[in-house]
Amino acid sequence: MSKVNRDDILNILANYNKEEITIATLGSHTSLHILKGAKKEGFKTAVVCEKGREVPYQRFKVADEYIIVDKFSDIVNEEVQEQLKAMNAIVVPHGSFVAYAGLDNIENDFYVPMFGNRDILRWEAERDLERKLILDSGIRMPFKYNKPEDIDRAVMVKFPGARGGKGYFVASSHEEFQEKISNMIEREWITEEDISSAHIEEYVSGTNFCIHYFYSVLNDEVELLGMDSRFESNIDGLVRIPAKDQMEIGLDPSYVITGNHPVVMRESLLPQVFDIGDKLVKTAKELVKPGMNGPFCLQTMCTDNLEIVIFEMSARTDGGSNTFMNGSAYSYLLFDEEMSVGQRIAREIKNAITEDKLEDLIT
Ligand code: AMP
Repeated sequence: MSKVNRDDILNILANYNKEEITIATLGSHTSLHILKGAKKEGFKTAVVCEKGREVPYQRFKVADEYIIVDKFSDIVNEEVQEQLKAMNAIVVPHGSFVAYAGLDNIENDFYVPMFGNRDILRWEAERDLERKLILDSGIRMPFKYNKPEDIDRAVMVKFPGARGGKGYFVASSHEEFQEKISNMIEREWITEEDISSAHIEEYVSGTNFCIHYFYSVLNDEVELLGMDSRFESNIDGLVRIPAKDQMEIGLDPSYVITGNHPVVMRESLLPQVFDIGDKLVKTAKELVKPGMNGPFCLQTMCTDNLEIVIFEMSARTDGGSNTFMNGSAYSYLLFDEEMSVGQRIAREIKNAITEDKLEDLIT
């Protein structure tokens, strides 16, 4: 259970001047469209920025206020929290915010109103919780192996922490698993301690779609805002080499995410996309009260049976939403304007202020 008491946060919010709300975030990850979107919706914006990293926010002119800190993790410091509260700030979390602030600090020590459900951030960070949320929703995930001795088909081996695919490898037998583990240790991509926490799952052969949803608490509706796919090094380069040459050069594939590109899916797959999003939102309401709130992203593989298999989830803005800062094919269909995830968050906050329901969006 979160130790930051929701009532404390609501008391802080009650003292805010609702006419003067500032939307704030940490200067990294998806902060450009969070801040830009907030400005478009008429809010003041603030960025908490590590010294020397302020240039993008100045050049793109998305931040009204700068809170410059020595290191990103200082966002949880008492003085920074006070500065944020003095600005009537609502903090929008993203992947770097979670990584730098730290889940324990967000749950126990960060007394600034945040957009979304702060408790759900742990559910995306811990593989077992994430798996429970997705499987309890009746959504297909890759089969999980409990020990390397059980490997009986192609598997993907992953290690804990946000490494952007670094150290992941594919194997199809126990022997190959051992061989590749040794190789990864030699390259210093993993350590001996990582071995026991290796996560082994079925390798899903398919095409990658990362689906960006937004659950509007105010409208009780799951929206599809965009989709991206990932550039991954070196696998993307490796597959451009003919198979016989791949055998000869003996390069090991890796899955380090280096960029994103916007994509659309076959239209006939969209009913599945909405079904998956609706199911996840329903289960989250039961498992992690008050449930999903705002943006979330499902990272998927679509197989040649046209089945969408989820291998990862983000319960906040995902990095791939940077591919549609100026809107996507899907957000255009829904809004008839260039709606980014950041702007969608700000619009939800604006509508909540108008409807006097801001408490419903904040934890
Ligand atoms: P992740 O860190 O979980 O987002 O994974 C990084 C990349 O590894 C993904 O974008 C996929 O290309 C690949 N990947 C992860 N899990 C699987 C899987 N079960 N089957 C096939 N490829 C995967």
